[in-house]
Amino acid sequence: MVIETAKEKKEKTIKKKKKRKRKKWTINIDEVMKIIIPEVTTRLGLDYLELTEKELRDVIEPIVSSIIEARKTKPTTESLIKRIINGKPMLFKALSAKMLEREKLAPQQIEFILANAPELAGRAAPRLYHEILEAGLEYLLDTLRYLWQRYGKPTRIQCPYCGFYAVTPDLSCIVCGRVIEERDLKKAIGFNKQLAMLAEVLDKSLLEEIIKAGFVVYDGDIHPPSLRQRLPHGVVLYLTREERDLLRRILNREEA
Ligand SMILES: [Zn+2]
Repeated sequence: MVIETAKEKKEKTIKKKKKRKRKKWTINIDEVMKIIIPEVTTRLGLDYLELTEKELRDVIEPIVSSIIEARKTKPTTESLIKRIINGKPMLFKALSAKMLEREKLAPQQIEFILANAPELAGRAAPRLYHEILEAGLEYLLDTLRYLWQRYGKPTRIQCPYCGFYAVTPDLSCIVCGRVIEERDLKKAIGFNKQLAMLAEVLDKSLLEEIIKAGFVVYDGDIHPPSLRQRLPHGVVLYLTREERDLLRRILNREEA
């Protein structure tokens, strides 16, 4: 066995690196891109997306460059095209990200993004919600709600207007942007019924606490005011006179 000294080893790797760096071939990327872009677009049926030449190139060129970089032998244009097409899911995600840079999306672009880049769509739900409505694509809202729940930033409270779990503690909705009327939220969650059910099982002292403070904290469930600090995502819902009376009746009944 020949034992190499550290110095010899180092020299060898330097030589190897030098060898690898020196490619015996070059590719004119501009020329190649002129063929690849229309070919890939046609073969994958992407013409209907009506992307600009620049958008397509911004996405496809880095992919081509990285393939070329990794090659020892000169790839044919056809082999490059095939590699791109084989990586279709990644390409579609990258195209979706590129489209989201646009100020306004065309209807077919919105559909494409929802179908091919679920993570991106979920995160972009507040923007896509408005674009979906504008484009009259209401049938996509259920999908978008699901993606928001999975990849977006859902809160624990559902908006009574848009149906997304996106109500924040200041009673505004991250997705539709509206400020929620307490009255509407209460109606949507069946507040009266929930409150009555809670009052039946709640400690007398907590019930008194709610009546005295005049509000509860809601985060999908109703909690007494003293939990406010521990529930930073909850919203404060003030009780109407009728709701307070309801609690008083339950309290008095218990006392009797
Ligand atoms: Zn909303």
